[in-house]
Amino acid sequence: MPMTKPDAAMAAHLQARIEAISSLHRDIAMLGEATDLSALARLGDGINDRLRELHPKVLREHEMMALREQLRVISEDCRRLLDNFKPFTCPYCGCPTPEGDGLVLDAWGYFHCDGEDAGEECGARLRLDDSGRAIGYINRTLEGDTQLS
Ligand SMILES: [Zn+2]
Repeated sequence: MPMTKPDAAMAAHLQARIEAISSLHRDIAMLGEATDLSALARLGDGINDRLRELHPKVLREHEMMALREQLRVISEDCRRLLDNFKPFTCPYCGCPTPEGDGLVLDAWGYFHCDGEDAGEECGARLRLDDSGRAIGYINRTLEGDTQLS
């Protein structure tokens, strides 16, 4: 017995499924191209919105769950990678702040930026948080004039 040819409605539904699943796979693959955490989060949110849109009309429950799981796993790995390798920079000259043994703090706990990579003396005295991110300059925070304790 020959397989019944899909009618127009069925063909349109199959076409929509193929397009939706292909584009979701493409979007998930794009996560690996994100160069910073906010771009990664934006892409992830977009994919989640799309999954919500497509389920249950186009995607079946287990397909939606499988794609959501892929999104979660890849996002998590990308996030850890970006977190680890994202260089922290001096907010004044843009030079990366050194890590580990290269990081020398003065008696008051400030790092003195020499602006080496910018090709000129920077001279900023930076307060760094536990992860090495510059959060303030002398007694000024970057966000405003709030005093650091
Ligand atoms: Zn600097």
